[in-house]
Amino acid sequence: MNRPWKRIDVKIGFTIMSLFLIIIVPMSLITERILTSYNVQQEHRKTNELAIHLITMMSAGDNINLDAISTMAEFTQVHVFVLDPEGKLAAKSKHHHGIGFTFLTAANLEQLRQGHPLDTEMRLNKENYIVAGLPMMIEDRFRGAVIVASSLQTVEEFIAEVRQVLLLSTLGLIVIAIGFTYLLSRKMSKPLLQMASATRHIAAGKLNTRVPVHSDDEIGVLARSINELAVELKHYRDSRNEFIANISHELKTPITYLEGYAQVIEEELYESEEEKKRYLAIIGSEARRLDRIIHDLFDLSKMEEGQISMKLEHVDIRLITAYAVEKVLRLATEKGLNLEVEAGDPPLFVWGDPVRLEQLLLNLLDNAIRYTKQGSIHVSILPSEAQVQIHIRDTGQGIPEAELPYIFERFYRVEKSRSREHGGSGLGLAIAAKLTALHGGTLRAESLIEQGTTFIVMLPRSQPSDLVTIATGH
Ligand code: ADP
Repeated sequence: MNRPWKRIDVKIGFTIMSLFLIIIVPMSLITERILTSYNVQQEHRKTNELAIHLITMMSAGDNINLDAISTMAEFTQVHVFVLDPEGKLAAKSKHHHGIGFTFLTAANLEQLRQGHPLDTEMRLNKENYIVAGLPMMIEDRFRGAVIVASSLQTVEEFIAEVRQVLLLSTLGLIVIAIGFTYLLSRKMSKPLLQMASATRHIAAGKLNTRVPVHSDDEIGVLARSINELAVELKHYRDSRNEFIANISHELKTPITYLEGYAQVIEEELYESEEEKKRYLAIIGSEARRLDRIIHDLFDLSKMEEGQISMKLEHVDIRLITAYAVEKVLRLATEKGLNLEVEAGDPPLFVWGDPVRLEQLLLNLLDNAIRYTKQGSIHVSILPSEAQVQIHIRDTGQGIPEAELPYIFERFYRVEKSRSREHGGSGLGLAIAAKLTALHGGTLRAESLIEQGTTFIVMLPRSQPSDLVTIATGH
């Protein structure tokens, strides 16, 4: 991070600056090229036009009016040379500063003799000249020629000035671009650097860190996501701490019982064999409860981390309900409870894991039996087109309305001591709710104090095309 070229603002700045240069430099060069070639071309055109004008003048009369030509040459700041039919110099304008006629090569002369015009640039006397020559042809015979040499000095001076202006404006633009780039890259990189530092703080456990959100664009969205992540992490950390505190508390109770009763037996503090047996039974049941808590905790944490393996298939929920009811039937009968099932006949399919679905129903049936002293447990299956509802209704003690929203939380108990007496782990409903969600369904409870509770599992129906025929075929 210390190396400047690795910094985001430097990278952004470098990119923008490169773009600026890619545009500014070629644009200046192109402008310079266009202006130069336009001006030189204009000069060529003017020189050639003058040569045409002069040759027309010469062709008009028999005598060459040298004075007129000279005046014109002076007036237009050019040098004029007139050749005779032999190709020798016949006349020349007066104001020529040391430019002799010798600049024409033999090839140039031959070109004119052949009747071809001449249009070229030459360096004469340390100055660049445009040389335009036109032959005078009468009946295809060379009768002389006029040659105009026009200095490019003025044009070159103009071009030099243009270049200077262009260079200065390019440098000015580059300075403005550097300033603009600096401000822009700072503005763009500031929130990113802030986010980088915030994420480092969050990673270090400072979960109250927040990134200021300045905009609604992608950077703003990212800043908001980082803030949400921090909130989520904080919630996760708090609930994990609470969960660990709960676990320790839950495990401590049975362990205290185990230690206490084991000590009573060890030190033979009981009065009769009968009492000893009772204590041993407590030790047994507390050990089983401990085992159940550990097993349920393990199960729940696997579910929450999405690590339980589910063998999904089209499951006949009527069959699964029948199996679950059969398993708890003895328990209900022993307690003097009436267990009724209203399930109907044809198979009803849901997409799920049969073992997990049975576990879900067993948890609910187990609770219904546990929290009902007398009366009955009624299980009914109500299919609709897209869903299937399983109602497990008991005539038990009920759950106060204020507590209903919390019963699916881990270790939440309506009556802490009473429920422990019942031997539950405090995780049954949390597991049931998680299993229902894993099957794409919902779980809710309705309850009236002293009248009973109904748990309603709602699962989406599956429609195996091949199985539907079997299901409705009989
Ligand atoms: P536990 O192992 O304590 O039964 P659960 O998660 O299964 O834990 O249930 C949480 C709490 O919800 C129970 O402690 C009990 O107070 C209440 N509860 C669950 N099912 C019923 C029911 N059918 N009737 C009355 N109360 C119930």
